[in-house]
Amino acid sequence: MFYAEPIAKLIRELGRLPGIGPKTAQRLAFHILKRDYAEVVALVKALVEAKEQIQDCSICCNLTDCDPCAICSDVHRDRSVICVVAEPKDVLAFERMREYRGLYHVLQGEISPMDGVGPNDIRIKELMVRLQSAPVTEIILATNPDVEGEATAMYLARLLKPSGFKVTRLARGVPEGGSLEYIDEVTLVRAFEGRREIQ
Ligand SMILES: [Zn+2]
Repeated sequence: MFYAEPIAKLIRELGRLPGIGPKTAQRLAFHILKRDYAEVVALVKALVEAKEQIQDCSICCNLTDCDPCAICSDVHRDRSVICVVAEPKDVLAFERMREYRGLYHVLQGEISPMDGVGPNDIRIKELMVRLQSAPVTEIILATNPDVEGEATAMYLARLLKPSGFKVTRLARGVPEGGSLEYIDEVTLVRAFEGRREIQ
């Protein structure tokens, strides 16, 4: 490749993003170069501002621009239930459903031995610390219905059951191997309402 160094550098940086192969990185780089200067500055500003202003909620580990996050500080939410999800986007899926009024815990990942992700690499420790003082009775394990999500749910169930929590898992309405974000609201409501206690 014989690109001028600034172009090559831009392609390299874009290529580090997930799901962006060399061809897409090239296409994005040339697209960016064709935009107005103001548009490029707006993009850079959005990147920097998000990085500077977004942090983990100190209670639920969701991404937020205020700590505690809007959900954790909402006095109308039911503090006796925590729904454990893998990613911030899963919180959105549940909120869209408008059925759930409890709190969340965002693991920021799932256990995946194949990818070298163990229990200590996701926010399980933060959940355990939180549960020591929170008035929680039910914990809903809403990790994804795939291998990693199931492994994570089973690990958490083993960890939480001995402490006397009611631990539930979403019903099988959720298609196996799928991801929560692609599930329509009706299916998610059904899976949520049909959740079963893990014995
Ligand atoms: Zn929070």
